[in-house]
Amino acid sequence: MSQTGLVFHEHFLLHDPGPMIAGSPPRPYPYLEPEDHVEHPRRVGRVKELLDQSGLTERLRALEFEPASLDDVALFHTREYIQQVLTVSARDGYGDAGQGARLSRGSFEIALLAVGGACAAVDAVLDGEVANSYALIRPPGHHAMPTQGMGFCLFGNVAIAVKRAIAHGRIERAMVLDWDVHHGNGTQEAFYDDDRVLMVSLHQDGLYPENSGLVGDTGGESGAGRTVNVPLPAGTGDAGYMAALERVVWPIARQFQPELIVVSNGLDASRADPLGRMMITAGGYRRMTRATMAVAAELCGGKLAVIHEGGYSQSYAPLCGLAIIEELAGVDSGLADDLGAQARADRMRPAYEVGLDAEQALAEVVAAQSAFWQLEPA
Ligand SMILES: [Zn+2]
Repeated sequence: MSQTGLVFHEHFLLHDPGPMIAGSPPRPYPYLEPEDHVEHPRRVGRVKELLDQSGLTERLRALEFEPASLDDVALFHTREYIQQVLTVSARDGYGDAGQGARLSRGSFEIALLAVGGACAAVDAVLDGEVANSYALIRPPGHHAMPTQGMGFCLFGNVAIAVKRAIAHGRIERAMVLDWDVHHGNGTQEAFYDDDRVLMVSLHQDGLYPENSGLVGDTGGESGAGRTVNVPLPAGTGDAGYMAALERVVWPIARQFQPELIVVSNGLDASRADPLGRMMITAGGYRRMTRATMAVAAELCGGKLAVIHEGGYSQSYAPLCGLAIIEELAGVDSGLADDLGAQARADRMRPAYEVGLDAEQALAEVVAAQSAFWQLEPA
C-alpha cells in the first residue's frame, strides 16, 4: 500500500483556548483589546482547507480513529493530572492546565481525540495500512509534561503514541524528530531515561521553554546519548536545518537504527511565524520531509508518521503543511511554491547558506554528541 494516511476531525477545531492574554499572572487589558489566541482553530482549519482546495485530500486515505483511552494517556501523564484537565474542562469559562495551556469546556475530550489521532497515525504505518501518515490534530502536544500542561499543549500526543507502540510490543526502538521551533521538552521528559527512543529536537536557541533543550542535555543514565538537542540561532533557514539533518541527525539515526520515525511537525520554524524567528520556507519543509522519507526508507522500511504541532502563521503555515503532505504522498502541485513566493524566498541567504553562528551551534552539538556517536568533526 503506497497511500498516505490522514488523521483529521472537525472536533479539533472546537478546542478554544480563549483570547490571548498578556502577562504572568495574566492581566486584563486596560489599554489593548484582547486578540485571538495564536493557537487558534483557524491555524489547523486553514491547513485542511488548503488540502481540500488543492485536491490533495481525496488522494489521501482518511484514517479512522477514536479518543485515546485514559490508560493510554496514563502511559505518560499522572492520573491526577488527567483528572485535573477533566475537571477544568467540565467548567464554564477558561482555565489553565498548567503554564500557558489554556482550555475551555470540552477541551478534555478533544485532547483525547488528538492523542487517539496520533496513535492511529502511528498504528496505520506499523500495520502497513499506509506507506506513511499525517496527523492534522490540535491541541498540540510536545510541551505537555507528566503533571502539567505547558505551552498550548494538554497531552503529549507524540510521547503517548510512541510509548503505546512500544508497550504493545509493536516496536522496540523509535526515533522522534521534533523540528518545531520550540524545544520538545515534554517528549524529551518522556524518554530522557529510555534507551529505546532517540529524541532529536531542532529548535531556536533560548526560545521556549526557558533553559530547555540545551546541547549538554543528552539523556539520563539509562538513556545516555538518546537525547539530541540541536539549538540553532535565530535566523536559521533551509540550509541550516538541512545541515543539521545531514551532519548530526542522519548519522546518529543510522547508528541508532530505529524501527519507526515520528516527526513532531512544528510549522512555527517557518519564515513567517509570529512566535519564532527562523526562516524555513515551504520548499525547505518539503526538502526536509523528502530527506526524512529517504532515511526512513533506508532504516525502517519507510515507516514514518508525521504529527502536527505548532505553526502560527495563518497565511504561510498552511503552505508549509501542504508542501509536507504533498511530499509524503508523492505529489507536487506547485501550489505551495506559487502562493508562497518560493522563488523570492529561495533568494534569501538563510535558504541557501549556513550562517557562521549556525556553523558554531552545529559544532557544539557534534562535540557534545561525539561522546555517544561517531560523527564527523565540524
Ligand atoms: Zn512550537
